[in-house]
Amino acid sequence: MAIYTRRINVGDIPIGKGALISVQTMTKTKTTDIEATINQIKEVAEAGCDIIRISIPDKDSLKAFKKIKKSSPIPIVADIHFNYKLAIGAILAGADCIRINPGNIGGKERIIKIADASKKANIPIRVGVNVGSIKKETLDKFKGNIVDSLVASALETVDILEKSDFYKIKISAKASNVKETILTYRKLSKLTDYPLHIGITESGPPEIGTIKSSIAVGSLLLDDIGDTIRISLTASPVKEVIVGRNILKSLGLLKEGIDIISCPTCARCDIDLIKLVKEFKERTKDIKKYLKVAIMGCVVNGPGEAIQADLGIAAGKGGGVLFKKGEIIKKLSEEDLLDSLMLEIEKF
Ligand code: SF4
Repeated sequence: MAIYTRRINVGDIPIGKGALISVQTMTKTKTTDIEATINQIKEVAEAGCDIIRISIPDKDSLKAFKKIKKSSPIPIVADIHFNYKLAIGAILAGADCIRINPGNIGGKERIIKIADASKKANIPIRVGVNVGSIKKETLDKFKGNIVDSLVASALETVDILEKSDFYKIKISAKASNVKETILTYRKLSKLTDYPLHIGITESGPPEIGTIKSSIAVGSLLLDDIGDTIRISLTASPVKEVIVGRNILKSLGLLKEGIDIISCPTCARCDIDLIKLVKEFKERTKDIKKYLKVAIMGCVVNGPGEAIQADLGIAAGKGGGVLFKKGEIIKKLSEEDLLDSLMLEIEKF
């Protein structure tokens, strides 16, 4: 979590200046389908999403947004492209933050009008630049350099907002390329102290998008760059939230739930460890308590290899052992392995 950035709030969620890294996603329903959208927001909130973003592409969506906002358990960012009047409407309807895209929201006067309305409502604006919507003149000015064009687009809009005496700002500047995204945010973090919303845009289907996002978001967060994250996958928003939270857990930035350490197995393993781990993952998916639990394929190396685990099992022929902090505490038959481990987790 970056400690040098300014603090803003989106609803009751703090962003920046040492706040926990929040996880965001976006609804993928038609905003005009009020019931489906509210259900999706409830699903992602249940999965641990802190902030939801909703597209408002037209007047009907704005009408629906007013009702959706009343039923949302988490703060909503209204996502506006092209039409600044929709942004003003969303602010009046109670949006907790407005996302505008400098590439398509229109000229300075429109941005100033959105800033004035946001100031009255006391909500922040996310300046959200995307590689696909950089203005041609900006790209030409920087001779097609994506990193410089993204940074300049974002900071130009920030400058307009500051000149309107508006400072509740967060910035995103996303490319779909991992290296360009990392370089863009590194540059931004040197030039501004507004909180940064980080992620890869259009990262693809989960198998590849998860990898791209983990590399980009992970390396930025390890450098203390980034205050809130969104993982963009061609998949359900619940999946995006799970991946986002798992990235934070992998970095030790979110300590919640069971952190499973399991071995890859090898010739020393005498049981179906992949099946065992799958079952364990299912049985522990709702546990909130933070514990590192190891499931290892052999007694010879298991407890030693999983020395950082709080609890664990190491399988052997026809059974295995239960260990705590690397010390074997019990011998078990194969059918008792998981049940005994679950009991120990409850007691821990
Ligand atoms: S814990 Fe045992 S079975 Fe698993 S990879 Fe290591 S040596 Fe192989």
